Amino acid sequence: MEAKKNSLLIVDDENTNLKVLSHILGQDYTIYTATNGESALEKAKEYKPDLILLDIIMPGMNGYETLSAVKSCEEIKKIPIIFITGLTSDEDEAKGLALDAADYLTKPFSSAVVKLRVRNQIQIINQLRTIEHISMIDQLTNLPNRRSFDSRLKMEWGQAIREKTSISLLMIDLDKFKIVNDTYGHLHGDVVLQTAAAIFSQAVKRPGDFAARWGGEEFVVLLPNTHSDGAVEIAEKIRLDVESTTIPVHGGSEMKITISIGVTSLIPTNENSIDAFISTADKALYAAKDAGRNKVLFIN
Ligand code: GH3
Ligand code: MG
Ligand code: MG
Repeated sequence: MEAKKNSLLIVDDENTNLKVLSHILGQDYTIYTATNGESALEKAKEYKPDLILLDIIMPGMNGYETLSAVKSCEEIKKIPIIFITGLTSDEDEAKGLALDAADYLTKPFSSAVVKLRVRNQIQIINQLRTIEHISMIDQLTNLPNRRSFDSRLKMEWGQAIREKTSISLLMIDLDKFKIVNDTYGHLHGDVVLQTAAAIFSQAVKRPGDFAARWGGEEFVVLLPNTHSDGAVEIAEKIRLDVESTTIPVHGGSEMKITISIGVTSLIPTNENSIDAFISTADKALYAAKDAGRNKVLFIN
């Protein structure tokens, strides 16, 4: 499969400049264009380009003002901007870079230099994305990791407070997993964790649902917009899915595992804390273990 092209938004009030730049860069990137600062902002929000090439002298908002507007808008402020301008003095360049432009190119430009400067920024962006991805994903299971879960929970929690909607949390722990490792070896233990993770991520299908590896053999499932009945129902389905899954063991035999799930749910307000929410789910999990394992237990 061919990788998706990176995208550029080119902003210039002169159509000939847009044409030339689109021609130079169109082979390697998906190109969006705008002829003034206002429309650049709209298109940046709509298309979320990877990089913006921005003219400075334009009628209406100039390039400096457009850059400042981009940097103060939460949803697009991380998009790097390269100025490409007729302003050639060191002062202008320093001003542009001080405003946080990623780079500064002057007109008339060389096609080769424009291509390479754009490529450099795109490489940085792609490397950052790779690092961000690695830092958010658990390597063994490919599920989002704890860090990723923490940031998602914060976001969903805030939204649930604002919209006065329920949010539910499943805390899942594999039963007697130490015995699995001791009996079949650590490598098979890893396969079991991968199998369980695949079941969890398949079990949650609604757009906001979020399954993550909490650490070790513990997992979490976050269910925004889901009240207690719905959460318990999903937990029960996950428990049954795991119970009925046969996991092949190297050498020809097979084995099964079970899980315990603690569930909690609430419509949060500013009086509630995320830590207490998590620790309630944890308490429910330990109660499920105490109740004999392979169980779902809800605590409000
Ligand atoms: P309980 O039913 O009470 O949860 O018992 P348990 O044996 O599952 O719980 P315990 O916390 O005693 O053991 C968890 C085990 O999970 C011990 C640890 O070595 C194992 N484990 C944690 N992370 C990994 C991993 O990445 N791979 C493997 N193979 N094992 C892991
Ligand atoms: Mg366990
Ligand atoms: Mg554990």
